Amino acid sequence: MAEFSLHLTDDQLQIKDWIHEFAKDVMRPAAQEWDDREEFPWPVVQEAAKIGLYGIDFMMNAMGDPSGLTLPVAIEEIFWGDAGLGMAIMGSGLAAAGITGNGTPEQIIEWVPQCYGTADDVKLGAFCVSEPDAGSDVSSLRTRAVYDEANDEWVLNGTKAWITNGGIADVHVIVAAVDPELRGRGQASFVVPPGTKGLSQGQKYKKHGIKASHTAEVVLDDVRIPGRCLLGGKEKLDAKLARAREAGRTGEAQPAMKTFEATRPAVGAQALGIARAAYEIALDYAKERVAFGKPIIMNQAIAFKLANMITQIDAARLLIWRAAWLGRNGGFTNAEGSMSKYYASEMAVKVTEEAIQILGGYGYTREYDVERMHRDAKIHTIFEGTSEIQQLVIARAISGLRVE
Ligand SMILES: Cc1cc2nc3c(=O)[nH]c(=O)nc-3n(C[C@H](O)[C@H](O)[C@H](O)COP(=O)(O)OP(=O)(O)OC[C@H]3O[C@@H](n4cnc5c(N)ncnc54)[C@H](O)[C@@H]3O)c2cc1C
Repeated sequence: MAEFSLHLTDDQLQIKDWIHEFAKDVMRPAAQEWDDREEFPWPVVQEAAKIGLYGIDFMMNAMGDPSGLTLPVAIEEIFWGDAGLGMAIMGSGLAAAGITGNGTPEQIIEWVPQCYGTADDVKLGAFCVSEPDAGSDVSSLRTRAVYDEANDEWVLNGTKAWITNGGIADVHVIVAAVDPELRGRGQASFVVPPGTKGLSQGQKYKKHGIKASHTAEVVLDDVRIPGRCLLGGKEKLDAKLARAREAGRTGEAQPAMKTFEATRPAVGAQALGIARAAYEIALDYAKERVAFGKPIIMNQAIAFKLANMITQIDAARLLIWRAAWLGRNGGFTNAEGSMSKYYASEMAVKVTEEAIQILGGYGYTREYDVERMHRDAKIHTIFEGTSEIQQLVIARAISGLRVE
């Protein structure tokens, strides 16, 4: 077990500096253009792939780090650069996590590299759980997976909503109900290979923030996939379903929840990066902007805002690093992953709002980046478990009761 330390290793510091350069020189200058265009930023992702930031090797290296800290450190820098572009770079990671969390070693080796492609031929992954009538309530998924034994194929039907990289991804990981009566325990995850007939993009959403990230519906119309595309394999699924049928409410965690639990500190780190970026802009501005004959930071009203912002940013980072370390070393005891995501995302909304306030009229316009950062921060209180759901998870962990 690695010891928990706030001291980053030389390797981690190098990675942090390397990503910071990319975020500063490539991402930040391109951020406003892609926010305005509201299109997937292929050139930026391709550039990230060329330097090795977007790709299987980087993700495996970061995820294999025994301290668990490399990934949140990297993500904070990426999202410091820009959140919309950052989501475009990180979105495939959710599909990769869905495969590594539920797949066999052979499936991981086959499919995770296909979520990224190569530097010369970039590919994308999408992780598809949410549906128009099932977001927080993932146990109510309507998308059905039916086994066609004669052909050893699964047939998928349904509609997925708000999917990052939905329809433009090469690999779609789909969570579907195999036995709807068992609700969450009757679900399984499937890989839909590139070019499979019947999978199409539905509407592309116009969003409040992270506009460079592609978010769309995924429509599954009699999608036939080989039996080997069931993550974890048929034997394991059959055993799980049998256990769930026998034991009623007991059984294993549903696959979607497993993936989300593992990725929460990383989502917190995204929010942290945005908040730190907005804080830095506000601090510089407050030192330079003169009102009533002195820099506005000379007023406690402004200086205390900045003092609160940096305190909350540092507190979020400590929660995230602790959760990331626990995730790798011994597991969570009090929903520390949820705590970190909940605190960091709410903090980022508040800090970016305060940044706008400090910049006054300029802050409300697109002349400064804080306006975009505020819009980008907001999604973090919604996706991968809303703030209310995080509080529910924490409340259940500390009480041992099924708080509703
Ligand atoms: C930009 C974007 C990208 C996304 N990317 C993906 C993706 O890649 N893959 C994917 O599968 N999904 C994705 N999502 C979907 C996202 O995870 C869901 O939107 C989210 O889980 C919330 O679900 P919902 O929208 O159905 O809200 P609902 O579940 O309907 O919730 C509405 C409100 O009710 C509250 N609420 C619900 N239940 C309770 C309860 N029991 N107690 C208290 N309050 C409750 C919620 O907190 C929220 O405030 C994305 C969404 C967006 C906007």
